[in-house]
Amino acid sequence: MQRAIPVLCAIAAALLAGCGAGSGGGAATSRTRATAPHGAAQRAAARPRPRAVPVLIPPADAPARSVHVPVLTYHRVAPLSAVGQLDLKVDPANFAAELAAIHAAGYHTIYQAQLFDALYKGAPLPPKAIIISVDDGYVDDVRTMLPDLERWHMVATFFVITGRMTEPGFVSADQIRELDRAGMDVGDHTEHHLDLPELTSSEQRTEIAGSRQVLQRVLGHPVYYFAYPFGAFDAAVVQAVHAAGFTLAYSTAGGTTESTAAPLTMPRVHVGRSETPGGLVALLGSQ
Ligand SMILES: [Zn+2]
Repeated sequence: MQRAIPVLCAIAAALLAGCGAGSGGGAATSRTRATAPHGAAQRAAARPRPRAVPVLIPPADAPARSVHVPVLTYHRVAPLSAVGQLDLKVDPANFAAELAAIHAAGYHTIYQAQLFDALYKGAPLPPKAIIISVDDGYVDDVRTMLPDLERWHMVATFFVITGRMTEPGFVSADQIRELDRAGMDVGDHTEHHLDLPELTSSEQRTEIAGSRQVLQRVLGHPVYYFAYPFGAFDAAVVQAVHAAGFTLAYSTAGGTTESTAAPLTMPRVHVGRSETPGGLVALLGSQ
């Protein structure tokens, strides 16, 4: 049941994309070509530099260590009428209020690299450290969430679907770079958001390793973090994620303890539509 709901969401999103195919990404590309006649080199020069990202590869003799870092999971921040499964949409006013409540309660959003350093190097974390993660790469990421996060000087991790970069309603390659250049973490959520345990090993490689290559080309730097579509994985999928070069990967299993014992199946805390700002703070305090 838990997995059936996001499946419906993905189907609805795919239908939306199908309805509008060819209108969004293609038009934008044409406009870019029409207004930038000076060639690829000059366009590249005008583009902000890639972020310098640290290498996040665990040492072979990694010590056993756990840290308490709640990783919140959002999907859409959009009105009720927007496409998508109901509980995966948070109203924009409610999202803004939740950030304000988290800030007022003294929580600090951290980068994936900070979690990595805390796990593998024993590096200190700020008080009440949390990670805000956002799945599926809807255009809400840049239109709604990014301005709200910047207002509170917060960071988040956006797990994007690389096969949807040209579909209307989802972040484009330029918008993914915009998130990255704004100081947000961008992670991988596969190429087509399929149920990974159901795929052949070859298909898994395309969805996982292939998607990582695409995202790294978009960003211009390595990508080390991954989120399983529908939270679905098995031993073979985890091995494929490891082989692809990811070192931090997230499921949808509930929990707030991240550990070097299971860095590729880390838990998260789902934030649904019915959550309130006060309820979210109380939830974090009870974990
Ligand atoms: Zn997803």
